[in-house]
Amino acid sequence: MEASEAKIDIINGSCHCKKVAFKVKVDLTKMSRNLCNCSICSKRRHAVFFSNPSKFEIVQGKEELSDYSFGTNNCHHYFCKTCGCSTHISGENPNLGGAYICVVVAAIDDFTPEQLDSFPVNYADGLNNTWTAPPKYTKYL
Ligand SMILES: [Zn+2]
Repeated sequence: MEASEAKIDIINGSCHCKKVAFKVKVDLTKMSRNLCNCSICSKRRHAVFFSNPSKFEIVQGKEELSDYSFGTNNCHHYFCKTCGCSTHISGENPNLGGAYICVVVAAIDDFTPEQLDSFPVNYADGLNNTWTAPPKYTKYL
């Protein structure tokens, strides 16, 4: 069986006011939009994809970011102080291979609607701390 070939690309993202800009290296064959029902994802309703700190770089406006954490403070939810748009989440979880970055799909500038439509959607039941299985209800996420 032939393994599908990786299609590595560097894609650009930003907040709405463009004070914050970042780039992230992705494998376009492995992209997905991940939706979750945990307390903050229910409020924010944005899809993310998983990346690695070594593949993610803020190229402009690091000082424009604010960082929100709660609970165990394991996750840092970054957003632009001016326009309020979320850019990424950083955290550390042994079950996810250590340090990770969740990039907010909506902050990516380079994806076409066609590409976005083609990415598979994964759901996590974060509300019940079940990150590998979908919640009972998903349509509203
Ligand atoms: Zn902004």
